[in-house]
This record gives sequence, structure tokens and C-alpha cells, in this order.
Amino acid sequence: MLIIGSHVSYTKDKQLLGSLEEALSYGANTFMFYTGAPQNTKRYKIDAALTKEAILKMDENNIKLENIIVHAPYIINLANDDENKYDFSIRFLKEEIKRCEEIGIKYMVLHPGSHVGLGIERGILNIINALNIVLKESHNVIILLETMAGKGTEIGSNFSEIKKIIDGIDKENLIGVCMDTCHLNDSGYDISNFDNVLEEFDNIIGLSYLKCIHVNDSKNACGMRKDRHENIGYGTIGFDNLLKVLYHEKLENIPKILETPYILDKAPYKEEIEMIRLKKFNENLK
Ligand code: FE
Ligand code: FE
Ligand code: ZN
Repeated sequence: MLIIGSHVSYTKDKQLLGSLEEALSYGANTFMFYTGAPQNTKRYKIDAALTKEAILKMDENNIKLENIIVHAPYIINLANDDENKYDFSIRFLKEEIKRCEEIGIKYMVLHPGSHVGLGIERGILNIINALNIVLKESHNVIILLETMAGKGTEIGSNFSEIKKIIDGIDKENLIGVCMDTCHLNDSGYDISNFDNVLEEFDNIIGLSYLKCIHVNDSKNACGMRKDRHENIGYGTIGFDNLLKVLYHEKLENIPKILETPYILDKAPYKEEIEMIRLKKFNENLK
């Protein structure tokens, strides 16, 4: 069965329950959220009663908690070893993981980081070192390194860089990968030949590491390193190519998450999930 959902909001008042209700309103059977605003460090105490209520409601709707994804805040940059920033990133990621453990979340997506001019090799070593520190105290939450578009000095825009990071991780069972179709396209992977992309992923990293897919169209041509998401079927990847990813037989049990842009200040996810389920492009979305 297709496991499909989108990015949803997470509020102080309703927390996981609110995120779930938003996802259900889109007809989703999974979702992804930030435990607070991704660009700041303000975080609220997790309310155990709300979590419990949400988990009961998930059961009623056949949604598995293990398919729910948290996205780490993007102010974390493990590649930059500038003392203050590095310590902050490590500390904040540890706290995020604790919040995930409290809720019972299994997977957290993380941008590997930007080396800010230090160079790819040093950036990768910084990421490995930081992740090993973070994971030392961690037991259950699996960090999924996201494949990046290669904007600026981003690390992780090809499978070899991701593989190098994975190879340096002490706790191998706590590391995995999240593919992002827009990022893959923008970094130069041709989604119209997705079988080849998947084969390359399998050869370099190994398919068993792939635990989540961000399904987004792209505003830019393959290899442009821009990272601007587009609505499903409205970009350069196209509806049919994204359907092949969504329904790929080797990826059946992997949660697929939409992070497509709002249309006229409104979330497009209900309509996008519907057209994905119907396998029929909706040309009236925008
Ligand atoms: Fe991301
Ligand atoms: Fe993404
Ligand atoms: Zn992106």
C-alpha cells in the first residue's frame, strides 16, 4: 500500500494530535513535521496526554507511528566546525532526538550540512565527528541524511558523499538516507531514468539504508543546483516520472512525503495526494 503524506504543521497547543489531524484532512497515511519553527530554537514541552491521544487516533486510522517523520531544524549545520556554531548544532540535535524519543518517532531527516568554504573533505569529517557525539547517547531514533541539491556549499549532493559519512558512523544501525526527488534532479540525477538512479544508489550506498522519500517536482532543469520545489506535475521532473518513484516496487514500504509549495496561501496536499492515488494529473491545481 502506498504510504503517502506531506509536511504538516506542529503547534504548541495540539502538538502531534494537531499534525495528525491536518494529515488526515489531506487523506494522508503518514506525515512529516518540525518539532518547532525550523529557523529558531524555541521548543515546547511535549505533552504526554496529547501524544497518547494522537497515537490512539493513528491506530484507528491505520497509521503507523514508525512511518511518521520528523525533520531536524535547518539551523543545525554539522559541517561547520566554528566552535560556537558546532557546539550549538550538536547540542540542539541531541535535544531534538530526545524530543523524538519522547514522542516515539523512529526517523529524523537531517541535512548533512554546508562546509561554508572549509572544503568537502573537512566538512564530511566534521559531520561524522558530530554525529558520533550525538549518537553516543541515542538509542532508537534513526538519523536520515537527506540527499541535497548542491546549493552553495551543501554536502550530500551525490551518493558518494553520503556514503563517506555513513562509513564514518560508529552506530551503523542509527543512520539511513532520505532521498529528495527535487534535490536529486537539481544535483544532476536524471529522474526520468529512475531505475538507473536507484541502481546507482544501491551500488554506492545500499538500498537498505533508504527509509524515506521526499517527493517534489522541481522549478529548475536537471543539474542546476537550485533547490526550488514545484508542485507535483508542474515542474521539470513531471507527473509520470514522479509516479514511477511513488509506485516503484522496490520502495513500496517507504514513506513518501510531499514538500511542495503552497498555492495561493493554501496547502495543495489534499489535491496532490488525490491525483497521486488516482494516478491522474490534475491540471487545474494552479
Ligand atoms: Fe529537507
Ligand atoms: Fe526535502
Ligand atoms: Zn529542498
